[in-house]
Amino acid sequence: MAAGENVAGTQGLTLDDARKALSTYFGYDSFRPGQAEVISAILSGRDALAVMPTGAGKSVCYQIPAVLLGGLTLVVSPLISLMGDQVRSLKDAGIRGSYLNSTLTPRQQEVVMARAIAGWYDIMYVAPERLADQRFVSFVQQVHVPLIAVDEAHCVSQWGQDFRPAYRGIPAFVSQLPRRPVVCALTATATARVRQDVSHLLDLRDPIVQVNGFDRPNLRLSSFELTPKERTRWLLGYLAAHPSWSGIVYATTRKKVDELAETLREAGITAASYHAGMENGERAASQEAFVRDEVRVMVATNAFGMGIDKSDVRFVVNCGLPLSLEEYYQEAGRAGRDGEPAECYLLWSRGDIRTCHFFIDNAEFPPETSQEERNALLSNRNRLLSSMIGYAMSDSCLRARVLRYFGQDASSLGAESGSAGCGGCSVCLGSSAEEYLRSNRPRRVFGGSGTESVSGRYRTRELPSETEVTDEDERLFQRLRALRKQLANASRVPPYVVFSDATLRAMVRRRPTTAEELLSVSGVGKTKLERYGAVFLSEINR
Ligand SMILES: [Zn+2]
Repeated sequence: MAAGENVAGTQGLTLDDARKALSTYFGYDSFRPGQAEVISAILSGRDALAVMPTGAGKSVCYQIPAVLLGGLTLVVSPLISLMGDQVRSLKDAGIRGSYLNSTLTPRQQEVVMARAIAGWYDIMYVAPERLADQRFVSFVQQVHVPLIAVDEAHCVSQWGQDFRPAYRGIPAFVSQLPRRPVVCALTATATARVRQDVSHLLDLRDPIVQVNGFDRPNLRLSSFELTPKERTRWLLGYLAAHPSWSGIVYATTRKKVDELAETLREAGITAASYHAGMENGERAASQEAFVRDEVRVMVATNAFGMGIDKSDVRFVVNCGLPLSLEEYYQEAGRAGRDGEPAECYLLWSRGDIRTCHFFIDNAEFPPETSQEERNALLSNRNRLLSSMIGYAMSDSCLRARVLRYFGQDASSLGAESGSAGCGGCSVCLGSSAEEYLRSNRPRRVFGGSGTESVSGRYRTRELPSETEVTDEDERLFQRLRALRKQLANASRVPPYVVFSDATLRAMVRRRPTTAEELLSVSGVGKTKLERYGAVFLSEINR
């Protein structure tokens, strides 16, 4: 039997074991959509391809098997700067993580490998380039590797936008291991073509393919044609109308990022900036300030955001056009990961279209790229760009357009509103940028850093986690947030590592009085109960 050749699949682990681990480590009673399918495939020794939007809980798909399978699960990820945070998050949940990358000195790397051989870790994060390092290969040959998780797996495909040649070396690496581990590929964005590529190029064997829905009903999508000058005015008005909302503003060049951040600061808005031209240390400090709620707005190029786990981002504004709809939806999708209403604006002009064409026409290729490959890459990039332009200029429902692009049926959207579209995007609402500011009517939502008004138009749609709350609830929520911030600062981690907003809200609703009741709150696992339980209980019962 094919499964028997794999390391996993021989231990008789079941989904029940996985559920217990989920509750112990993460404090959740049940899996989110798609997780159970991927996890049971892995536990039975089968490869998997998981396509899940940002925020759907992709990492749980390999973290739970990692603690159950024993040995060392390798996670291949291009996001070196995030590895430290990921490992801290794991540690907080009681999972033993480690990472091996160029931010460690050679001596530190030796220590990590020696500890891994001695069985200190469940999970190790590595960059794809590391797999070609012979020293690393001989190290891995000395440990038991039941599972390799390939994160951001679309990087293997030239058809996607983040092609990373080192990903092509993954099958060769796997073939050097004494026993073939289960391979699980994960990505937040992949069209049918990229999915095929991922499965083929990573040499997945009879994988289960789990594609989760791309629909994010709590995101309100808008596209407005505005000149750069109008955009700045629009943005200042928007920020003034939502004084307690935190969000991200994407601009297309470093210069624009710096200028825009400066304009916001001059208007008295706390804003950090982030782009590839800044020093590593500066970038890290900017990111920290945003994630830790020290600044309201992050102004950034597309270098910012991959893997950033800040759940209460209330808006994402793109000033200018990304080069593909994949890229746009990934950026916009960083809003509202807590499930609360959030807004995504694309502000573009005809000039941006010319700029995008200029980027594509002047892109540089590695010298070994043949003319044929260049032509193929160029026509692919033009194809990706036209999907983006089509979205910006769309005169049909934006939400339906995104879903169709990712190969998902959008015909059910109209059912909610009785119209041909979603009833909530700027096209369905027939709204213009000017009209939007005028049409704001206050309505209360729970979340963010205060009570806030949202456009009255939200009422036309059902939002999943919308909850009416009392003033007292809101005050308790803010107290718990403050406590979380204090604890996070003391242990030098971002607030979400302590508890997510959703978990704090569940505490407010349920008002637990004992450790046992607190443990039953979604998001509270045993490790976190031990670490934070007493202080949160005393704050709730104060
Ligand atoms: Zn719509």
